Amino acid sequence: MSRPPTSSPQAAPRRLERGDQLPLMCCEPPGLRARALARDLRRFEAPGVDTVRGDELAVPWAEACGSNVLDVDGNRYLDLTSGFGVAAIGHRHPRVLSAIAEQGGRLLHGLGDVAAHPARVELAGRLVGLAPFPARVYFAVSGSDAVEIALKTAMLATERPGVLAFSPSYHGLSLGALAVSSRPAFRDPFAARLGAWVVRLPFGCPESELEQALRQGAGRLGACLVEPIVGREGVLLPPAGWLSRLGALCAEHGLVRIADEVFTGFGRAGELFVSETDGYEPDLLCLGKALGGGLPIAVVLGRAALLECWPGNGEALHTATFLAHPLACAAALASLDVLEREDLVARSRRLGEHAGSRLRSLPVPVRGRGLLWGIESDRAEVAHRWADQALRRGVIALAGGHRGTVLQVVPPLTITEEQLDCALDVIEQVVGR
Ligand code: PMP
Repeated sequence: MSRPPTSSPQAAPRRLERGDQLPLMCCEPPGLRARALARDLRRFEAPGVDTVRGDELAVPWAEACGSNVLDVDGNRYLDLTSGFGVAAIGHRHPRVLSAIAEQGGRLLHGLGDVAAHPARVELAGRLVGLAPFPARVYFAVSGSDAVEIALKTAMLATERPGVLAFSPSYHGLSLGALAVSSRPAFRDPFAARLGAWVVRLPFGCPESELEQALRQGAGRLGACLVEPIVGREGVLLPPAGWLSRLGALCAEHGLVRIADEVFTGFGRAGELFVSETDGYEPDLLCLGKALGGGLPIAVVLGRAALLECWPGNGEALHTATFLAHPLACAAALASLDVLEREDLVARSRRLGEHAGSRLRSLPVPVRGRGLLWGIESDRAEVAHRWADQALRRGVIALAGGHRGTVLQVVPPLTITEEQLDCALDVIEQVVGR
């Protein structure tokens, strides 16, 4: 077992030259620079998105490389968040950096949906090649944007506005995505703007409930939207066989099957796409996060015949200024290269088995697959305390879940075995054995 990292009197690392190192703490976080930045953040930014409320520890990131993060005071951490699941290939991967530099030297920004560029076309072709069905691509700028596109596609294709969704779930906070997301704290202030077109069932509910909802919704329900593993809302896995039964029932009732794999896609859970492996047979796959290797880009990968429902009349019905941004497309191509060349989906599965065998020896419930794990506490304060204690020992992990009770373990798929063991040592120390 690797030694747990401890505070060290050594001089603060000034730069991160590599991403495969163990934690090195030079001061108690948040340090002086972190506190000063937090003060300015409070002064200049709207309160809704500040991350330094109350007593919570917050460490502004100065650098990230591989599985390491350097805070503004020089503390070096292991990142068990992958930056919300984005850094699957690690932070600041050199191939991504050189692809961005190369692309930026040619075309930094283009004309969105109006004029294509080679990287956009190449990326679309590459994604079509990965799809588990004859596919085409609809580009989006974020995960929630991809969910909006999938919901609009289903409505255009079926002319039925209703959507079967699940609780808990997180699909984003734009109004369409919020309407299908379940957490009351996000929804309640805007409830008057959320349509009544969503039918919500408990995630993993008995088949009889699914059948009943589908019967009652006949003629109104046009789509079913599900996260194959509930991510942000608590790392919840459905009962064995549930996804394939759900997919079959939806197909029987003529619903478009949407899988939200923004979090789980591209190897996070040890499969390229969990919904396909688990038999849901999606018609539309929402993908984002890891795709861009650190730059914002998302897509809907959909059955080619289904996407024909979008009218090609010269006016894009859903688009954005930064659609298929050249830098993001180049970064995504590089990121897919790394994913394939380094066989990271298999690595996620292999390291996930190791992580799972260690985490399961904790005295609390743990759930997960691949490199997506959740450790359940009985109260939100406990999960936050675990996260704070881990941070002080040089490991960044987020407390999440729909009740805030779950400590999430989401390392880069490239994390070294030594780093992973070190992070798991810390988790064992803070959660207890
Ligand atoms: N769907 C899922 C499953 C997600 O986890 C997220 C983000 N956590 C989203 C959609 C929204 O993505 P974004 O934040 O990029 O809009």
